[in-house]
Amino acid sequence: MTATVAKLRVHTGTRTSPSWQDDAPRTRAPCALACPLGIDIPEATACIARGDPAGALRRVLHATPFPSCCAFLCHHPCQSACVRGAGVRPVAIRHLLRHAIDQAGPDTMARTAGPATGRRVAVVGGGPAGLAAAHELAMAGHQVTVLDRAAQPGGATAVVVPGFRLPQEHLHRDLERVFSAGVTLKAGFQLGRDFTLNDLAAEGFDAVLLAIGLGRPRPTHVAGDELDDVLDAKILLARAAATPPPAFTGDFVSIGGTGTAFDAARTALRLGAASATVVFPMPLSDLPLPEDDLRSAEQEGVRTLFLAEPVRILRRGRHVVGVRVRKVMPLPNAVDAQPIPIPDTEIDIPARQVCVARTRRERAPNRELASLDADEHGQLILDPVTHMTSCPGIFGAGDLAGGPRRIAETLADGRRAGQAIDAWLRGQGGSPRAPERPVIAHVAAPADPLEPEGVTWDGVETPSNLDPTARCRRASEEARRCLDCPCRQGCTH
Ligand code: SF4
Ligand code: SF4
Repeated sequence: MTATVAKLRVHTGTRTSPSWQDDAPRTRAPCALACPLGIDIPEATACIARGDPAGALRRVLHATPFPSCCAFLCHHPCQSACVRGAGVRPVAIRHLLRHAIDQAGPDTMARTAGPATGRRVAVVGGGPAGLAAAHELAMAGHQVTVLDRAAQPGGATAVVVPGFRLPQEHLHRDLERVFSAGVTLKAGFQLGRDFTLNDLAAEGFDAVLLAIGLGRPRPTHVAGDELDDVLDAKILLARAAATPPPAFTGDFVSIGGTGTAFDAARTALRLGAASATVVFPMPLSDLPLPEDDLRSAEQEGVRTLFLAEPVRILRRGRHVVGVRVRKVMPLPNAVDAQPIPIPDTEIDIPARQVCVARTRRERAPNRELASLDADEHGQLILDPVTHMTSCPGIFGAGDLAGGPRRIAETLADGRRAGQAIDAWLRGQGGSPRAPERPVIAHVAAPADPLEPEGVTWDGVETPSNLDPTARCRRASEEARRCLDCPCRQGCTH
């Protein structure tokens, strides 16, 4: 690593890129303050109200090159913060932005790259954090190369998130946006196997961003989880996305406190499972899944046991035959808190196959990262302002640096890392701090208000049975609910 330190040097210069911006919202509206990406939501809703979806999409693209993740995957803290939610329902921001993406067409551009700086940055990891950083760096005029061990970029959004939650055509459009900004992809390159950090320094990269995931699930300590029929949910979903996908038979149980547990259950049902049950350790109010995805899961037949935890996987020989679960008390609001079991509440659920969706993961051993300061789970320790690791010139972002986060937070983290590297390359010590965001209690969102009552539309796969003109009119009406909000004083409309 010493050689790497010596060759990754600080450059001096003046920030000239007109496209550089931080992710602090330009409005004081509570929705925008709550959005991890700082999207200017009042501006976007104003565009939709006047029938300009492309303008709304441009507002989103100012903050992220991945509008699909905002509109289809985000848990929408913006809506929970919307003051229209007091007494009535909040403005359906996420559905409005989804409508904008659908209607705007593919050619909407929001930002132009700054003048070329001649600096080169390697981004190791092609998931959302790495690509958000790569896009930010490219917009600042740097030459960026993303090295990813997978054959295709996108990380979990491309491999683990099923197409019924994130339409692939929207994701591909976002990926194209990143690479058409001048980012180069080297697919199939794994750190430690195909290249080292010293190789990157020898190739002349001025800075390196480590944005790889925390690959290894932490053990569950549930008896029986070593059986062949017990799979990690991410592995199961990656296999299900392959061609041909595996077939499921019999009952399926998905254990875990993440949205991935529901994705796995829905996937198993679609691939032939007789039933699917999610064993979820928290109450419904803590479900990290947008409500329309929960509704879709329930409509498809997924059953949920809230406030329940597995006691053991039941087996016959090497095969799973069920899961014994028990009720638990709600978790105290503390990191790593253990659920408190309620005595005499055990029941057995039949299962032919079980998957575990883990919130806690740790870093797989990698000699290349061994000399960087990290915590006991392998998460890199970073300077909170510069994103730099203990090795100058090497930066961190994403799961490896901050643990698993929700998608909008991951994209915001990647973007900030890109801005921090840009500041460092220009010889500016400072970099944008993450703006303080209010802690927002989640407010459940109603079904898509852009559709008439009684229509079952799961938002992604089933096309709206409203004609486009009627849907645009409803979108405009919904957006106009926002226009007289008293918090819009920061809005220029
Ligand atoms: S990223 Fe999330 S919080 Fe921000 S506007 Fe989109 S749905 Fe709302
Ligand atoms: S009414 Fe509009 S500006 Fe006000 S909080 Fe809701 S979405 Fe934001």
